[in-house]
Amino acid sequence: MTFARLGLIDPLLAALATLAYKTPTPVQTQAIPAILAGRDLMAAAQTGTGKTAGFALPILQRLATEGAPVASNSVRALVLVPTRELAEQVSTSIRSYGQNLPLRTCAVYGGVSINPQMMKLRKGIDVVVATPGRLLDLHRQNAIKFGQLQVLVLDEADRMLDLGFSRELDAVFAALPKRRQTLLFSATFSDVIRRMAGAILDNPLSIETSPRNTAARSVRQSLVAVDKKKKPELFSHLLRKRRWGQVLVFAKTRKGVEQLVATLQAQGVAADSIHGDKPQPARLRALERFKAGAVQILVATDVAARGLDIDDLPLVVNFDLPIVAEDYIHRIGRT
Ligand code: AMP
Repeated sequence: MTFARLGLIDPLLAALATLAYKTPTPVQTQAIPAILAGRDLMAAAQTGTGKTAGFALPILQRLATEGAPVASNSVRALVLVPTRELAEQVSTSIRSYGQNLPLRTCAVYGGVSINPQMMKLRKGIDVVVATPGRLLDLHRQNAIKFGQLQVLVLDEADRMLDLGFSRELDAVFAALPKRRQTLLFSATFSDVIRRMAGAILDNPLSIETSPRNTAARSVRQSLVAVDKKKKPELFSHLLRKRRWGQVLVFAKTRKGVEQLVATLQAQGVAADSIHGDKPQPARLRALERFKAGAVQILVATDVAARGLDIDDLPLVVNFDLPIVAEDYIHRIGRT
């Protein structure tokens, strides 16, 4: 299978060539033709399956070939994501896929000043990637209007519900035009997600590219039994003994994260943290430094559990087990 055979136009094929994507992934092979044909979609796909390109490529194509140019303070495609980090990551990917098309993409999320986002929206944005709360703020302030909306994407829908965005999502659905294409992506499909899908999707095509709620087979898992108090000591011991390289560590609380980072730093280990108490720029900086290799150990709460795409990450440590069992799958899927 090739991207050209899926019916993508030349500007997109040229962008894929520069990104060295040669063969579509299974989710892309199934999603791209269906989305181009205007179908609603319900897709079980985890991060790492190529789902972002799976929805972004056909959406960019439809925006480039159908519909009126975007009006001021308007949006034509809306991608809802659970976290700020994911909003940045997804919008960066969409921009690179659309590099040869005259379409504008931006990310809007909370925790940073709203004014620059309002300024950007003024001229109209083709693809807005947003977290639900900030999107509603912008809508209430008339900075974003939905009259021109053609496509809605819910990315990591299960995660959005876990984070308590259910009411915000309902408010967004109520504000959007009824006639639109809707695409729902979720790593897991609980009954709640299925009910939501039933309410917002119209005769959707269901695609499933990995078995439900199972860990990726390529990830080797091991368990070490230890007293709770001795976890930091054991961690330091294994770090030295096993000569661990880069490690993403998940802890339950923000305090637990900071304690472990302090312990490691006191031992001269380059460690940093990501959690909800940290200002957004500091979170992004920690992630960038980890990706660049300047930080060896990144310790995070579940805010970082899903969606983050880190190349060549050899090891994830569950310092504390997650509260929601499904989060375990997402955490270890970061390798
Ligand atoms: P995603 O699941 O959308 O987060 O994508 C996971 C990673 O796979 C990203 O780093 C993408 O750049 C990469 N990717 C997506 N589709 C392809 C493809 N067809 N060929 C090669 N890499 C891809």
